[in-house]
Amino acid sequence: MASIFTRIINGEIPCYKVAEDDLFFAFLDINPLREGHTLVVPKKEEDYIFDLDDDTIAGMMLFSKKVAVALKAAIPCARIGVAILGLEVPHAHIHLVPMNSMEDVNFRNPKLKFTPEEFRATAEKISKKL
Ligand code: 5GP
Repeated sequence: MASIFTRIINGEIPCYKVAEDDLFFAFLDINPLREGHTLVVPKKEEDYIFDLDDDTIAGMMLFSKKVAVALKAAIPCARIGVAILGLEVPHAHIHLVPMNSMEDVNFRNPKLKFTPEEFRATAEKISKKL
């Protein structure tokens, strides 16, 4: 069965899209740690990130760099934190989280709530900086 992220990429499940190319897709995490918390996924479905072939994992990092630069321009912060967990969704993904301190990337923190309009505005703000 297709992963939830494949269904998002295919447009079967809605998301707040930030960026896309032939091989990769970036969209806002629905349970963000910070405004702009973005997930980068390869369109090719693979559960564990380190099972991806070398070209895909290298391309995913370059695509993440482009998104991270835009994200930092859109959401002022000290750095974009990068995390790879993959304990919940079995489709390889990189978390990009605007951060000012270590605490901002503590995945045990309560997740933020935004309205659909706020999510849409954030995604648009980031994609305009690409
Ligand atoms: P992980 O697999 O890295 O532990 O966590 C998966 C992440 O995907 C979580 O931060 C979770 O909020 C996010 N997530 C799970 N389901 C959805 C979804 O349907 N849409 C979006 N945008 N994010 C999701």
